[in-house]
Amino acid sequence: MSSNPNYKEELVGVFGHPVAENPTVVMQEAGFRALNLNWRYLTIEVYPQDLAAAMQGLRALNMRGINLTIPHKVAVLQYLDEVRPDAALMGAVNTVVRVGEKLVGENTDGKGFMRSLTGDAKVEARGKRVAILGAGGAARSISVELALAGAGRITIVNRGEERGRSLVDLLNAKTGVKADFVRWQGTWSVPDGTDILINATSIGLPPKAAEKLDIEYETIAPGMVVCDVIPAPTTPFLEEAKEYEAKTLDGLGMLVYQGAIAFKLWTGRDAPVEAMHQALAKAFNP
Ligand code: NDP
Repeated sequence: MSSNPNYKEELVGVFGHPVAENPTVVMQEAGFRALNLNWRYLTIEVYPQDLAAAMQGLRALNMRGINLTIPHKVAVLQYLDEVRPDAALMGAVNTVVRVGEKLVGENTDGKGFMRSLTGDAKVEARGKRVAILGAGGAARSISVELALAGAGRITIVNRGEERGRSLVDLLNAKTGVKADFVRWQGTWSVPDGTDILINATSIGLPPKAAEKLDIEYETIAPGMVVCDVIPAPTTPFLEEAKEYEAKTLDGLGMLVYQGAIAFKLWTGRDAPVEAMHQALAKAFNP
């Protein structure tokens, strides 16, 4: 044993509700083990009315940072000292980093998607015509990053009109991309010329994993890049898209990379992405 043992662990984790099925702990702890870091990732149930106390607790316990998931990504903004520009644009934070006494907010979801799109699917966003199903937190972060990466046009397709229109207004006003809104009623047809189609709704997420998006699948053209944010090796949406010769990208890569970016922000070390991906894949297919 060393003459100066250090038994203190560095703490990060996630606040959410419900949070028990959040798999992030599996990959973050695999990352810490791979780099021999004495860090722990805690999955913590925080009710909406307790977020202020939880953020105070984060400071009191000298935690190094925290992830936020449903329903805290927007509400957390009021407890931060600083918010990074992309996250401020989206109005949502999924990662908080403690920098000295300051709590700094960042959003790594859309950046994780972009890394998976360019690194795993080998697709560049610049000039591409993109259609995104959904207008919630995932759609917001992905569409802002796609716009900042130079996407040619973004169509937001959403059931609820208010959320869809407010996202399109944000994209048009703040990013310079051309964005338009389509109300999703009944079966939706993918417009001709679409290069990238993304499911950013929660359809396909367990316990409703068998649920399939209501779109005209024949309008998926061969070679179209079809992506799903659902963190699973595949979904009924992706399986159907493959029938029409689309190039598909699942949501596991996005989950790994958004976590890898947070890992680097917290620890200052490059994340061992392969070890994290393997741990996650194993958790989904034990
Ligand atoms: P939100 O609750 O913010 O948004 C959900 C979206 O799904 C809304 O646009 C909603 O439409 C739409 N939706 C839900 N049910 C239906 C339905 N039956 N028919 C049509 N539209 C529907 O959730 P998030 O954006 O935060 O999360 C969405 C998904 O993204 C989740 O499954 C989550 O697991 C996943 N995700 C994956 C990540 C990854 O790293 N892979 C990271 C973050 C999220 P409406 O506005 O009309 O209600």
